[in-house]
Amino acid sequence: MRPWPDTLAGRTLALLIGMTLLLIIGSAILLHDERNERFDERSRSHLLERVGTLTRVLSDADDGERQRIIRHAVQRGDSIDLSDRPHVDRLPRHPLEHKIARKLNRDLSLDDRSAVRVKAEFRNLDDKRSDRARRDDVPGKSHRPRARVHNLKCITIAVRLWDGTWLNFRTKHFENPPPWAGKTLQLLALLLTLVVLSGLFIARRMARPMAQLAMAAERFGLEQSHRPLAEKGPREVRHTIRAFNQMQGRLHRHITERSQMLAAIAHDLRTPITALRLRTEYIEDPEIRDRTLATLREMEAILSATLGFARDDAADETSRATDLAALLQSMVDDHADLGHDTDYTGPDHLTVNCRPVALKRALNNLIDNALKYGRRAHVRLLPNDGTLEIRIEDRGPGIPPEQLDAVFAPFYRVETSRNRDTGGTGLGLAVARTIVLAHGGQLHLENLPTGGLSAIIRLPQ
Ligand code: ADP
Repeated sequence: MRPWPDTLAGRTLALLIGMTLLLIIGSAILLHDERNERFDERSRSHLLERVGTLTRVLSDADDGERQRIIRHAVQRGDSIDLSDRPHVDRLPRHPLEHKIARKLNRDLSLDDRSAVRVKAEFRNLDDKRSDRARRDDVPGKSHRPRARVHNLKCITIAVRLWDGTWLNFRTKHFENPPPWAGKTLQLLALLLTLVVLSGLFIARRMARPMAQLAMAAERFGLEQSHRPLAEKGPREVRHTIRAFNQMQGRLHRHITERSQMLAAIAHDLRTPITALRLRTEYIEDPEIRDRTLATLREMEAILSATLGFARDDAADETSRATDLAALLQSMVDDHADLGHDTDYTGPDHLTVNCRPVALKRALNNLIDNALKYGRRAHVRLLPNDGTLEIRIEDRGPGIPPEQLDAVFAPFYRVETSRNRDTGGTGLGLAVARTIVLAHGGQLHLENLPTGGLSAIIRLPQ
């Protein structure tokens, strides 16, 4: 699998998902911290409230009552007792100890700061580290280990009552902060799904006009129809589509003008040729007269071939579903009727989308060549997956391999056929190839190992 998607939509989506995940993870961390902070505050005030209340109640009670109150107050993990000495032998050092001591002092309105002593032992942060932290921590300096109640292993708070007795409160029971709320996770998952879905929708919408543009560019030149594309999508894409439409229009106008000009020249040259033919009457040398007439005939042939091609090209024939097998069979039959050696192998029916008049002209040129130079035309239609192949084979001399490409050039003729006995103009293959290319296909020639030439047309289905 590719690590980075290839399509515009894929990349946009990947970016969107990546950013959203980052955002979710980032805010989850922040949120988690915030929750822990709140939880810590709550646990602390709960602890302070217990110790504060106990101190107040015990202060007002006599000895007998005090033991009873203590018995009632003890909870899981607690140990509470009264003695004449505090169980904490030092003043607060750690920020948490300071915080608790200060708060208790204030709550109980004690004037003497040494009346409250706190000793915190941490659990999560390994003992060494918490020891070091405790040693290093100076009041006012920011606390290095997370000074949170749920990180405590044990806390001892000693408070001196008014009669000098010390209340020693020690607890090992601390609630853990609530784990990740399922609801929050569900909400985040829902959020991610929403982002992915809307991202998919947006990315697709963005990429669609680009794909259409690419398709139109591929089709351009293959189809005579040159409908402008709808200008949809974001501004940059709309600009590109507009530029493409304008280019398509300009090219189409240009090609049409050229074809019309070619047709006009071919047409207008006929009159001077006719005039020249009349003037040959005045040539006295019969040999020169005949050669001049032959040249003029040749020129006429070239002009009518040019005119025919220019007219077809300008004719804007539209593509339509055509039974290609039937078309080939009827062409072969027509030639057979004229006594030519032709046959057809292939399916009886095969419908393809094409411009039948143009395609027929191309096929006719190839069949004509096969009959002219190769004495027979064996036409085969081979439908493959996605493409179809038309082969026109003959039994002639073939074409020297180094000229197999050159013969497609307009007016190019192989030396052996230069004597024009065959009456060609050298335009047949050029025209055939232009038409096949305009169908999105390919035309090439191959010499057969058994002798003869094979013209191969490949068309997309
Ligand atoms: P032309 O009007 O001369 O037939 P084409 O463009 O059809 O013009 O062909 C160009 C040249 O290619 C021909 O003059 C001929 O020499 C050669 N050629 C075409 N088809 C064949 C073939 N089937 N066998 C041998 N030579 C061929």
